[in-house]
Amino acid sequence: MTLQKLRNIGISAHIDSGKTTLSERILFYAGRIHKMQEVRGDGTGATMDHMELERERGITITSAATSVQWDDHSINLIDTPGHVDFTVEVERSLRVLDGVVLVLCGVGGVQSQSLTVDRQIKRYHVPRIVFINKLDRTGADPLRVTQEVRDQLGCDAVVMQLPIGEAENLAGVVDLISREAIYFDGSHGEDVRREAAPLEMADEIDAARQTMLEQLSMYSDELMEFLLNEQEVPLQLIHDVVREAVQQLSVAPVLMGTAVKNIGVQPLLDAVVRYLPSPADRSIIAQSCDEQETDVELTADPAEPLVSMAFKLLDDSFGQLTFMRIYQGTLQKGQSYYNQRTGKSERFSRLFRMHADKRVEIEKATAGDIVAAMGVDAASGDTYASQAAYCTLESIFVPDPVITIAVNAENRNDIEKLAKALARFRKEDPTFQLKSDQETGEMLIAGMGELHLEVYLERIRREYKVPVQASPPQVSYREAPTVATEFNYKHRKQTGGSGQYAHIVGTLGLLPSNAEEEFLFEESIVGGKIPKQFIPSVERGFREQLLKGPIAEFPVIGLHVTINDGSYHEVDSSDKAFQTCARACFRENFHKTKPVLLEPIMKVEVECPQTFQGAITADLSSRRGIIASSEGRGDTIQISGQVPLAEIFGYATNLRSLTQGQGTFSLELYTYRRVPTSIQEEIVADRAEQKMATA
Ligand code: GDP
Repeated sequence: MTLQKLRNIGISAHIDSGKTTLSERILFYAGRIHKMQEVRGDGTGATMDHMELERERGITITSAATSVQWDDHSINLIDTPGHVDFTVEVERSLRVLDGVVLVLCGVGGVQSQSLTVDRQIKRYHVPRIVFINKLDRTGADPLRVTQEVRDQLGCDAVVMQLPIGEAENLAGVVDLISREAIYFDGSHGEDVRREAAPLEMADEIDAARQTMLEQLSMYSDELMEFLLNEQEVPLQLIHDVVREAVQQLSVAPVLMGTAVKNIGVQPLLDAVVRYLPSPADRSIIAQSCDEQETDVELTADPAEPLVSMAFKLLDDSFGQLTFMRIYQGTLQKGQSYYNQRTGKSERFSRLFRMHADKRVEIEKATAGDIVAAMGVDAASGDTYASQAAYCTLESIFVPDPVITIAVNAENRNDIEKLAKALARFRKEDPTFQLKSDQETGEMLIAGMGELHLEVYLERIRREYKVPVQASPPQVSYREAPTVATEFNYKHRKQTGGSGQYAHIVGTLGLLPSNAEEEFLFEESIVGGKIPKQFIPSVERGFREQLLKGPIAEFPVIGLHVTINDGSYHEVDSSDKAFQTCARACFRENFHKTKPVLLEPIMKVEVECPQTFQGAITADLSSRRGIIASSEGRGDTIQISGQVPLAEIFGYATNLRSLTQGQGTFSLELYTYRRVPTSIQEEIVADRAEQKMATA
C-alpha cells in the first residue's frame, strides 16, 4: 500500500444526526461486515460502538479505529465521540485525523454541537466534507442546510449533488459533476446504478451545476478561463480543483442522502478518496522536548526515526490496547521506543490492525498509519519516539471541569478497586478529575457535565463490578473580584532568634472577562526594592490562596495581581517570609475587591415536535434560562438558549416527561456568569451547613 492511497478520516456530528448509522453503512459497503444491523432495537447494536453502555445511550464515546478498503484505497475510520462532554476525546481523535466527514441532519441543520466540533476541526486544520443526512424526513432541505453551513461555519460550502424526489419519495441523488443520476438498488442499496438524470430536472441541474462551477472558479484561474469562454470544463479538472480547495480548507463539498434508507453512502466514500488528503499531503509539526519547545517538522517517511502518538486506550480481555497514529518512521513489533513524557523505553510486544469485527496481527506499520499496540503502558496523548527526548506532539487544550460528585463504594472491600478504576479513567481523560475531600475523606470526581460523570459511574459498576453510591452533582462555582484595589502589606515577625520580614505594594486588579488565563501575576519592581529571587515566592503565596476563595471556598478566577513596590531586610527576608506575606496580604485585601460568585452557564439546545414548544420554553424560563431562538423546521422545533448548570441537573428525565420521550437536547459550557445575590446567599449558607455537618 502506498501512502497516497491511505485516508485517516473521522465522522463527526451532532448527537442523533446519524453518525453511527452512517459508519455502519460504510463498514457494510466496504465489505467489512456482512450483515447490516440497525443501530437500535436489535440488541446487538452497531459494530462501531464498543461498549454496551454506549449502545444503550445511543451515543458513541470511545474513538475506536477501524480499517476498510474502498476503490483500492485504505480508509482508517476513527470514530469521534458525538457528545461534547467528551471534548478531549473529540480533540484527540481530530488530532490524528487527516480529514473529516461532518454529518448534518437535513432537518436539524447546523446544531450547537456541530458548531463546537467545527471550531475544533478548525483548530486542528482538518479538511472536511459535509454529508447532509436524513433527506427522507419531511422538512429536510439540503439547500437551506448548506446555507447554514456557509453562514454559521463560515466556509464555502459547495453543493455537489441534488436529491431526486423528496422525503419518503427520495429516489437517489444527481452527481452535479457528471450530471448523472445515482440510484441504489438491492435490498441494502449495495448496487449502485448510474444513468441519465430525469429529464424534468434538467434546468435545475444546469443551474446548480453552474453555481457549483462559479464557486469553484474562485479557486482556479484555469477553471475560470473555461467558464469565461463558455467551454465545457473537463471533469478531471473539476475534481482537481475541489481536491485542492478542500485541502486548503477553503471549500467544503456538500453531499447528501439518507444513511438509514441506504442512499448516498457510496458516492460519499468516493468523495473521501478523491478529495480528502492522504497523510503525505499534510505537514505535521511537533515540539522539541526542551524548554524552548522549538518546532520539529515531521515527514511521513518510513526511513526516518519513529514518532507516534497514543490517542486512545482500550482495555480488553488480553490487556491494554493502545491506539497509535504513526507520524514518522516505522513502528516495528518487538522493538522498544521511548515514551517522551516519562523518558522510559517500552517494548511494543504486539501490533494489530483493527477491523470492526476482528483484529489482524501485523509485524510493522509505517508513517501515516493507525494501528493498535499491546504491551505499552501509555497514557492517552503520549508521544513515542525512537530516541529519548526527541519531540512531543502538541498538547491538547483541557477545559476546567464544571461539576463535582462524591463517590463511595458500597462495600468497604471495594475501595481499592474503586480507586483503581478512577485512576484508570484519569489516565484516559484529562477532563476527568479526581481528588479527595480533605474534610470528609470522600472521593470527589469532577467533569464536564452530568452525562460525562454518569458514564464513568456506569463503567465502575459494569467494568469493575463495584457497586457505588454517588452524591447529587455539585456545581463548581468560582469566586471573582469585581473592583480593583490597592494594597500595601508588611509582614514582620520577631520570634526569639531570626525574624521574618517582607513588604509588598501593588494592586489586586481584574482580568478582562474574555481573558484566557484565570490568574495573572506581574511585577514592575525597580531598583531592587525587592530582590528578584523573592518574586516567585510572592506569586506562589498568592496562587496558594486562589484555591479557596473567601466567599464559600470556591476557586478564585479573574484576578490580576501587580506588585510595583516594597522593601526587604538583609537578614530577616526569605522566600518563606515573602510567601507568607503574599498569603496574608491576599487574606486581608481580597474582600475589598468585592468578590462575587460566578456560576457555569450552559448553552442548551432542545429539538422536539412543535406541539411541545410552549412547555419547553416555560420550563426553561422557570430554570432561570434565557431563550435565544426558536426555529421551526418541518414539524419539529429547535429551541436554543442559555441556562445555569445548577438549574439543569436531571434534565434528561424532565425532557422525557415533558415531550413524551420525543425530545432530544444537548448541553455544553458557554461561560461563567455572576450568580444572583439571593442565590449566592443560599449557596453560602448551604456550604456553611455542610461544613458544620462534617465538622
Ligand atoms: P448518532 O447519534 O449521530 O450516532 O445517530 P444514530 O446513527 O444513532 O441515529 C440516530 C437516529 O436517527 C436513529 O434512530 C437512526 O435510525 C436515525 N437515522 C439515522 N439515519 C437516518 C436517516 O437517514 N433518516 C432517518 N429518518 N433517520 C435516520
